[in-house]
Amino acid sequence: MSRFLSERFEKLKAYVPGEQPRNMSYIKLNTNESPYPPAPQVVEALTAKELNDLRLYSDPECRLLRMALADYYAVSAENIMVGNGSDEILSFAFMAYCDKKEGVSYPDISYGFYPVYSDLYGISKCEIPLRDDFTICTEDYYNAGTTIVIANPNAPTGICLSIADIESIVKTNPNNVVLIDEAYIDFGGESCIPLTEKYDNLLVVQTYSKSRSLAGARLGYAIGNAELIADLDKLRCSTNPYNINRLTLLAGRAALTGQAYSDINNFEIIRTREYTTEKLKELGFKLTDSKANFIFARHQKLEGKDLYQGLRERGILVRHFDKPRITDFVRITVGTKEQMDTLLNTLKVVLTDA
Ligand code: PMP
Repeated sequence: MSRFLSERFEKLKAYVPGEQPRNMSYIKLNTNESPYPPAPQVVEALTAKELNDLRLYSDPECRLLRMALADYYAVSAENIMVGNGSDEILSFAFMAYCDKKEGVSYPDISYGFYPVYSDLYGISKCEIPLRDDFTICTEDYYNAGTTIVIANPNAPTGICLSIADIESIVKTNPNNVVLIDEAYIDFGGESCIPLTEKYDNLLVVQTYSKSRSLAGARLGYAIGNAELIADLDKLRCSTNPYNINRLTLLAGRAALTGQAYSDINNFEIIRTREYTTEKLKELGFKLTDSKANFIFARHQKLEGKDLYQGLRERGILVRHFDKPRITDFVRITVGTKEQMDTLLNTLKVVLTDA
């Protein structure tokens, strides 16, 4: 027990992110970062002049970046809020739209931060079981009577819902916010951003971390009805109005100018995912149908924890979640084809030694 921590946080269990080793001799396939650098336009935008301008605060309204995003997604700037990573947006959304009475529903197997934000803000949570095959049963979310949060594609399964499925959930919950976390949408799913024009209760959250190779810049955004965005912004301005630093604001705009470069990388990641999936099946792995930049796989010969450990000892980091229903699995970020070939060869050794 801590001497000073407020009693209300005593039982709080903090989110544990994937390992960021100082020793970079690992092949790092554990936190779904891109194996490719950001667009060249991003590197060019970060000039010595801009570094000198760090003496000035950043624009608290993030106007230029919001306008650029609005242009890209064919919405208005008033429909967009940017955050210090999409985690910060999620944090504000849980704070804004849920409480003890107005609880939150999300799948029992999903992003590990959802229960942490729920507990942090004292929100009553309803964890809705995925089906046995890890798909979401959309009907379970009809008329939920709570805020709804769904990652699409889901994490760590990578399984996608269709736009029609999402629309059915949004439609049957007109008095509650439905938040769709699209952190991995650019790797094969279909974004429901266009639905935000039609439904005032839909909030879509995306990130620059994965498909634009900017995890370290910390930049995410929410797109939705102007009123929903204004609510979120009220909390942002009550917490940290300079939440996006000057360099990240620039990087965010430059990455949109270099979007064609990221699109090519994303296409390559999808190709590598499909290649790796086939090879893993040949080795006897069972996999979910992932439309994300990671693979979720298990092998009957080894438990997830042993796969994780066997790879780690041989220089490859993947993620294992010690949670009911998914303890047999490991989540493997899709890297370059060369990295995946090394992974496949190493897995052969791990399985032989088992
Ligand atoms: N949502 C999901 C489903 C994620 O897996 C992640 C990455 N851990 C995030 C949101 C947060 O990403 P970021 O804060 O880097 O934008």
